Amino acid sequence: MKQLEAAKEVMQVFIDHGYDVYIVGGFVRDYVMGREGGDIDLASNATPEEVLSLFPQTVLTGVKHGTVSILWGPYVFEVTTFRKEGTYRDYRWPDHVEYVDSFEEDVKRRDFTMNALGLAIDGTLVDYVGGVADIQKRIIRTVGNPYERMKEDALRMLRAFRFVSKLDFTIHPDTLQAIRTLGHLMENISQERIIEELKQMLEGQAFLKALKLMKETSFIKQLGFFEAGLALCLDKSYQPATFAEFLAVCTLFGDSKGLKQLPLAKKLVQYVRRVVAFYRDCGKVHPWSLFTYGRDVVITGNRIQHFIDGNPLLTDDINRLWSTLPIKSLKDLAVDGHDLMSWFDRKGGPWLNELLHRIAKAVITGEVKNETDQIRHFLLKNK
Ligand code: ATP
Ligand code: MG
Repeated sequence: MKQLEAAKEVMQVFIDHGYDVYIVGGFVRDYVMGREGGDIDLASNATPEEVLSLFPQTVLTGVKHGTVSILWGPYVFEVTTFRKEGTYRDYRWPDHVEYVDSFEEDVKRRDFTMNALGLAIDGTLVDYVGGVADIQKRIIRTVGNPYERMKEDALRMLRAFRFVSKLDFTIHPDTLQAIRTLGHLMENISQERIIEELKQMLEGQAFLKALKLMKETSFIKQLGFFEAGLALCLDKSYQPATFAEFLAVCTLFGDSKGLKQLPLAKKLVQYVRRVVAFYRDCGKVHPWSLFTYGRDVVITGNRIQHFIDGNPLLTDDINRLWSTLPIKSLKDLAVDGHDLMSWFDRKGGPWLNELLHRIAKAVITGEVKNETDQIRHFLLKNK
């Protein structure tokens, strides 16, 4: 069963119990554009508690903000209760929400007209704010006064650029003027939320167009650690393939110490550090650097060299070279620490790791075959 049909089954449950329910957000926008939609989000006048009681399988995604996830077969639908936003503190998310009964009221707190449409179960489009016309004109425009809406939640400014990148739309002049004036309010926004939007912006089809607009409006200056990387991408017409690649660019050509202040997964930070080290270290693509840094790090580092420094792009060569490596990690060596300890009759210590690396280097460069006897012979000869 398709996602849309499953959503209709869920909507029918709401309707059977006397509630209003609409598909909302990005799915409806994409549907109007004739695009394949992403996840389906719902909005209803049922309160979170009522939603919990209607469905056997639910997850409390954000009860505080009025959001419940309904598990329906293989699908998950987020349902948010119609609401009006309460008082905003420090230009961030409101500290409380007030539920309302009408969808028309709910629509007013949504960011852009194109995101403020409702799709009813019978396929009727509900459009209180001229969203369909704006989608047809390919315009991003706030619902209501752009100054007020950006002051309520400054992240909406970054979201506008994210949607330029994703949809190749333009920003309405009034909305753009508000961004020019209020960009500094971004200082109130958490790095988590900024990162979430930037990640999506990086994947957009019109990434460079979004960057150009960011520069023209000086909004780019509000992005701290990310500013240098974004400016360089614009300068070099360069769209990094991954968020990690982008972070490495920001670190290499901007604030080299900023990375550790960001709320990022440890693994991602370590990966970015390795790309930075490869680039700074020698940046040469050869069997030993491939072994030392790993294939993905070298591919990423080489992409940066290509787009920034004009070096050749070697992705295919790196893949080929990688497949010819006799060993890909120390674990692939025919000998291990135990062998070395017994051969040399020595206790373990830092010397073991050093020696394993020396052997690995000899194997990688073809000086010795990855076979126990050959390695033993090599060690005796090179004591
Ligand atoms: P995508 O398809 O790229 O996910 P989306 O429009 O679904 O785009 P989400 O971030 O998933 O974007 O948000 C879902 C909906 O919630 C939006 O369409 C919008 O109506 C509303 N929304 C999200 N963030 C905000 C915000 N900061 N201010 C006002 N409304 C918002
Ligand atoms: Mg969405």
